[in-house]
Amino acid sequence: MGTVLDLLDVDALLSEEERQIRAVVRRLVDDRVRPHVAGWYEDGHVPARELAREFGRLGLLGMHLTGYGCAGAPAVAYGLACLELEAGDSGVRSLVSVQGSLAMYAIWRFGSEDHKQRWLPAMAAGEAIGCFGLTEPDHGSDPASMTTRARRDGDDWILDGAKMWITNAPIADVGVIWARTDEGVRGFLVPMDSPGVTAREIRRKMSLRASVTGEITLDGVRLPADAPLPAAVGLRAPLSCLTEARQGIVWGALGAARDCLETTLAYAATRTQFGRPLAGFQLTQAKLADMAVEWNKGLLLALHLGRLADAGTLRPDQVSVGKLNNVREALAIARQCRTILGANGVSGEYPVMRHANNLESVLTYEGTSEIHQLVIGQRLTGLSAFG
Ligand SMILES: Cc1cc2nc3c(=O)[nH]c(=O)nc-3n(C[C@H](O)[C@H](O)[C@H](O)COP(=O)(O)OP(=O)(O)OC[C@H]3O[C@@H](n4cnc5c(N)ncnc54)[C@H](O)[C@@H]3O)c2cc1C
Repeated sequence: MGTVLDLLDVDALLSEEERQIRAVVRRLVDDRVRPHVAGWYEDGHVPARELAREFGRLGLLGMHLTGYGCAGAPAVAYGLACLELEAGDSGVRSLVSVQGSLAMYAIWRFGSEDHKQRWLPAMAAGEAIGCFGLTEPDHGSDPASMTTRARRDGDDWILDGAKMWITNAPIADVGVIWARTDEGVRGFLVPMDSPGVTAREIRRKMSLRASVTGEITLDGVRLPADAPLPAAVGLRAPLSCLTEARQGIVWGALGAARDCLETTLAYAATRTQFGRPLAGFQLTQAKLADMAVEWNKGLLLALHLGRLADAGTLRPDQVSVGKLNNVREALAIARQCRTILGANGVSGEYPVMRHANNLESVLTYEGTSEIHQLVIGQRLTGLSAFG
């Protein structure tokens, strides 16, 4: 896109406004992320609050939502922003996705007017950070079996349980926490400084190290009567948030792959073996051609799904096609690029192995590849093979 990689001239299918938004985010990533991200990754520490404020100033948080300080951008523009952010690092894109597409979207779609006024403008500005707690230590792909429970105590609610692998949890001001109630699964707005809430950072991750991940414990957490999101009753509510966030991943994964491909093209042009650049070997060109073809197909797929979203006709199983294909192909591209860089491919001096490691998490979160295969399988056969 705007590069030699854009074999199909997909750029021409974008509007001037979409190209401008992409350019602004690309510049931000070049200035604010690219020079530091290898260090953040190595240290396992990212200045998430600082970044959130900068992203907020640019209108990237809850960018596709309307009102309450949100930019109201179309899905394709948001997708392009995700692509550029993830060309920096999947963890940085995760910060924006969880804030905008999971936490803010849940409040925007299912919250009361008070919830929206209280949280959305601060979250859009990056002044307040949100997290989204669905996964539990014993229940990942099967959230219907969750054991976190909310029970009534007079007008109040009492929450007990645990959430695992929750992006931004240790730095969050508010959690959208999903819990079983007598009426089914409901979403609760939990101020993270409430008595009984602890959020421990998960350390020793080998992937997404420039992203904060935590384990939340809820021990008799007392919440007021207005803590539940009124319109979120049943598992469909959190699943619709995931469908929203997956759209950003469909684009984002292509950003990580693009950075790998651009790095590799430059490397192969200058690294000489047997008296000629690596790029001049037929085997290298076969790899490069196959990767570029997959990348372009992925981009067309992302754009198609984005246009369906903007037309209001996008179905969740279509999002599964994009998430399954684009993350799987992005990971294959990252691994193949690593081979072309030889030993330098395993070095943190180059971004390729960082992207490959990050994409392992992206493959797993927001529905694993297997879960998306099952969604597509159900669409094709009419039979659910989940249970
Ligand atoms: C870095 C990171 C950040 C995350 N952030 C968040 C977050 O912010 N909020 C949140 O709620 N969660 C988050 N997650 C959790 C993520 O969504 C889960 O890890 C994911 O849903 C998979 O659950 P699991 O890890 O328990 O794996 P499991 O569900 O135990 O699955 C293990 C394997 O079994 C396969 N499997 C499971 N069921 C079936 C089946 N029926 N048929 C065939 N194969 C099956 C899976 O595909 C997978 O390969 C995050 C995860 C990571 C790694």
